[in-house]
Amino acid sequence: MTAAPVGTAIRAAVREFLRGERGRGSFSASVDSWVLGHSPSFSRALGERGWLGMTWPKRHGGRESSAYERFVVIEELLAAGAPVAAHWIADRQTGPLLLRYGTEEQRQRFLPSIARGELFISAGMSEPDSGSDLASVRTRADPVDGGWKVTGRKVWSSHAHRSHYMLALVRTSPRQEDRHVGLSQVFIDLQAPGVDVRPIEVMAGEAHFAEVTLDSVHVPASMVVGEVGNGWRQVTSELAYERSGPERYLSTFVLFAELVRLESLDDRAVTEIGSVAARLWGLRALSVRVQELIEQGRAPDVEAALVKDLGSRLEGEIVEVARRATVDRTQGVNPHLRRLLEVAQLSAPSFTLRGGTVEILRGIIARRLGK
Ligand SMILES: Cc1cc2nc3c(=O)[nH]c(=O)nc-3n(C[C@H](O)[C@H](O)[C@H](O)COP(=O)(O)OP(=O)(O)OC[C@H]3O[C@@H](n4cnc5c(N)ncnc54)[C@H](O)[C@@H]3O)c2cc1C
Repeated sequence: MTAAPVGTAIRAAVREFLRGERGRGSFSASVDSWVLGHSPSFSRALGERGWLGMTWPKRHGGRESSAYERFVVIEELLAAGAPVAAHWIADRQTGPLLLRYGTEEQRQRFLPSIARGELFISAGMSEPDSGSDLASVRTRADPVDGGWKVTGRKVWSSHAHRSHYMLALVRTSPRQEDRHVGLSQVFIDLQAPGVDVRPIEVMAGEAHFAEVTLDSVHVPASMVVGEVGNGWRQVTSELAYERSGPERYLSTFVLFAELVRLESLDDRAVTEIGSVAARLWGLRALSVRVQELIEQGRAPDVEAALVKDLGSRLEGEIVEVARRATVDRTQGVNPHLRRLLEVAQLSAPSFTLRGGTVEILRGIIARRLGK
């Protein structure tokens, strides 16, 4: 008897779980479900099955699963358009960052609750005048008795209005010639006095990110992650986790799957669908390779940048292929497909922006190639 390939059993378990959830109407498939699908109860259900914090040590609430097993789980969830946004940032990047740089006290405090799907964290990097040029952040932390006083403004912080904490990149010492010096990462309790969280509505009418104003917010010293002043190195490793996963090419997969099911597609649509399928397969292979490198403790920033650059542009192309294939059809396009396409069209402009723009990713790739 030959052994089943790694991940087969867990893939079947996730599919079975999703069938059950769909059956009892807990969600309907959505494009961009890792951004738009915020469901604390769904996150808790995943936590109960051990599908959050999967690769983390058992003593921190994890399962010590392989990176590939985690990849299989999130691939299935994304392909089904399941609502995974509530825990996404905490599971994808904050947890791994804490395992690498956090104190044991922080790990004990945050990781088990993240793995249970009970604690949600938003990413506080961008500011009104700092996006691509992240080292120019102006949010300031000044030392006070027992910690820091933080003042400034963060923007586009996904689900900050529905999260418990924001992990913010702040300046802890005055700007020097090398702007990467003097930055730190701190946990901001989003209920603390001085924190004002204002949701921002997007074109589709949904408010999935927020502006966060910080007015002399007290942050205890125990809430600094890693070394004071080491924020740049830490945030760039956080960004590698942020850019490396299959969500960077699967945001519109449910739309693609629905399109493939359409009957009597014309020759152009069939050719375009074939081309998308081939490229999705290639990207998947690269993304699996990224997981292997992460498992080996390597920092695959170039590979992650490649997945995100190629993947986020392909996600947009899927929207165009679906639009061309359906635009003149009066019959056979079901309301579900129309709705997926509508949401995808409104979300598409953000695909190549979030997590680092195409130009910035290509800069990373070119620098590593010695250009
Ligand atoms: C849906 C969504 C969710 C987001 N979630 C979060 C979040 O949770 N937390 C968070 O902190 N941020 C978040 N962001 C913000 C995101 O990280 C920034 O939008 C992104 O980094 C770009 O920054 P910017 O918008 O300030 O654009 P800018 O940096 O002002 O860039 C504008 C344009 O100029 C180009 N450009 C800039 N610099 C260069 C250069 N050196 N060379 C060539 N071209 C350049 C860019 O590529 C881009 O086309 C989110 C954004 C979106 C759309």
